[in-house]
Amino acid sequence: MGNDTGFLQFKKESPPLRPVQERVLDYEEYDTFFPDDDLQKQAARCMDCGVPFCHMSCPLGNMIPDWNDLVYQGNWKEALASLHSTNNFPEFTGRICPAPCEDSCVLTEHYTLDSEEKLNKVNTVTIEEIEKHISERGWDEGWIEAQPPSNLTNKRVAIIGSGPAGLAAAQQLRRSGHTVTVFEKDDRIGGLLVYGIPDFKLGKRIVSRRLTQLRQEGVDFVTGINVGIDVSVNDLKKNFDAVLLAIGAQNARKLTAKGHNLNGVHYAMDFLPQCNRDVVGDFIPENEKIDSRNKLVIILGGGFTAADCLGNINRQGAKSNVRQFELVNMEPRPTPVHEEANTDCRANVLTEAIIDDGKGNVTAVKGVKVEWESKNGRMNMKRVEGTEFTVSADIVLLAMGFLGPTVEGLLENLEVELSVVGTEKSLNPTQVKKLLRNSQPVYSVRSNENFMTTQDGVFVAGDANRGASLVVWAIWEGREAARCIDEYLMGNSVLPSTPQAEVLV
Ligand SMILES: Cc1cc2nc3c(=O)[nH]c(=O)nc-3n(C[C@H](O)[C@H](O)[C@H](O)COP(=O)(O)OP(=O)(O)OC[C@H]3O[C@@H](n4cnc5c(N)ncnc54)[C@H](O)[C@@H]3O)c2cc1C
Ligand code: SF4
Repeated sequence: MGNDTGFLQFKKESPPLRPVQERVLDYEEYDTFFPDDDLQKQAARCMDCGVPFCHMSCPLGNMIPDWNDLVYQGNWKEALASLHSTNNFPEFTGRICPAPCEDSCVLTEHYTLDSEEKLNKVNTVTIEEIEKHISERGWDEGWIEAQPPSNLTNKRVAIIGSGPAGLAAAQQLRRSGHTVTVFEKDDRIGGLLVYGIPDFKLGKRIVSRRLTQLRQEGVDFVTGINVGIDVSVNDLKKNFDAVLLAIGAQNARKLTAKGHNLNGVHYAMDFLPQCNRDVVGDFIPENEKIDSRNKLVIILGGGFTAADCLGNINRQGAKSNVRQFELVNMEPRPTPVHEEANTDCRANVLTEAIIDDGKGNVTAVKGVKVEWESKNGRMNMKRVEGTEFTVSADIVLLAMGFLGPTVEGLLENLEVELSVVGTEKSLNPTQVKKLLRNSQPVYSVRSNENFMTTQDGVFVAGDANRGASLVVWAIWEGREAARCIDEYLMGNSVLPSTPQAEVLV
């Protein structure tokens, strides 16, 4: 460790976001960068703790104290190598990870006494910023190059889905010498990195340059193919030695309240991909456009997806008094997009009905406050009588979470078993489809400790395996599943493994 008093000498500082008035006029990333020497001061704040909770809390097991020190010493290239040893795509996580590492940084427990003998909290190391900066330095310097395998194994692996889980697995498996084909049903590669997460959080050129690297390493990409429908499951099994399902968990939780199907009510995942397409100039038919310009918008939900809807409507020019209602007892996590609008964020609100203007269009939302009580280990919801309210709306965006992967087609035809939250039993896809007709269970593809589903040679990773989660977890799952596939194909594997971190996100 280079500087053992760095955290006392330097305050935590992050580069400012672009000014609100400027950034809402475009879809460019809102982050800015520090000059290298400012960032080195931030890296100097790391105490190189004996028990580095940050490293243990990063799902990827990123070697945080090591690369903080390397940055402080100015060894950027070595810092990049350390970062890449656990993370295929640090430029993604460096931008959009919620950084559980920073929540665990030991500096959160430290206080200093000021001249008036007052206790002042010492802020955490700005880990995510350092991660982003190291990876960008690597790209700028040309240090990030294709690493094609030197020997081929003649084993063929099909990866279904091109989100972060599929991409991380593809890179690990290709570098081990396997012939890897990634199938994607959409017209672009990237999963939610391109058709969910907005450009102002993660510019799409950041994804494209990684895809170029994967192509140069020899990964084949096939777009516009819905596997299980356009390619049969039998063909898949016949032509490949192993299959990885990295199909995400994009089956959205539905709104069941009266009026849920009025004109003007839209699922977030109908809106967000369209916004990203608009940014790159794709043609969007007039009758499919969701345009919030000069409209009153209400967003239902409090997570990432809801925040991304907010950022997009801020840029489209929605009326400024946006409302965001969350059912559970948790205020929507404030993000940079909340600074951009005069948002009325409320937790503990149940949407009871969406009101019709008499012509089939939304005109208002009727809500009520609720309270939550814990009884026999379950949370029960209670309406608070007398708190009913009605607020006007032209557009309602539904961002209420996700249940699990699409069951129809691939999973159904593969006949892999599924796990349903709240029951220990394994259910087959037909049983889950039946459940979904009357209720909204949260489910995932069932797998063992080696990421293998109930079908031999068929593996699963990412949101399809763990439920809707985070990019950092998807990368971890992709890397771990790749090692298990390599072992399945070759009898052993030299691919690295990181034990599952105990992080509650
Ligand atoms: C709007 C939104 C914003 C988010 N923001 C963040 C964030 O800021 N930070 C963060 O850490 N996480 C964020 N997340 C979560 C994160 O994006 C996901 O956890 C992550 O993308 C999961 O990766 P994945 O590879 O498992 O699946 P996905 O990214 O969902 O990719 C799955 C891919 O599989 C394809 N596919 C599915 N079925 C088939 C088939 N049969 N044939 C061919 N292709 C198929 C899909 O088209 C899709 O492209 C966000 C999620 C959403 C919805
Ligand atoms: S990937 Fe996320 S948790 Fe890991 S070091 Fe980066 S910001 Fe922290």
